[in-house]
Parts: sequence; structure tokens; C-alpha cells
Amino acid sequence: MNPAQRCPLCGQGNACALAEGAADIQACWCFAARIDPAALERLTPEQRDQACLCPACAGVRDASERGEQD
Ligand SMILES: [Zn+2]
Repeated sequence: MNPAQRCPLCGQGNACALAEGAADIQACWCFAARIDPAALERLTPEQRDQACLCPACAGVRDASERGEQD
């Protein structure tokens, strides 16, 4: 798996559409989701540049069913 497709907090797939090669950012769950600011606080600046959070670590529950496929 591409490192950009892993959540920097838990190491699970983050289901980021862009990391998976999608051209349309609106295809990503994070476009519509509200990311928990506390989750972002846990990332170092380096980690923020590396990869997206997964829905679980981002504090999003509604989008998780879209991201479970592996
Ligand atoms: Zn995670």
C-alpha cells in the first residue's frame, strides 16, 4: 500500500480518494466530512504532509462504511 494511503495515527487505510489516484477531490470522504480538530492536533507537521487520517481517527463515523473495503 502506498504510504499516503495509510492513516498516520493508526496505520489503517485512510480511504483517501486522492491517494488512490482519483482526480476529483470531491470523491474523497474527507471533502464532505468534518474532521475532528483534536485529531489534527495529534499530527506533527510532517505527518500532515504525508497522508490523510482515516475516518475513524478523524472522528468521522458516517463515512466509515465507504472506507472499509480493502
Ligand atoms: Zn486512523
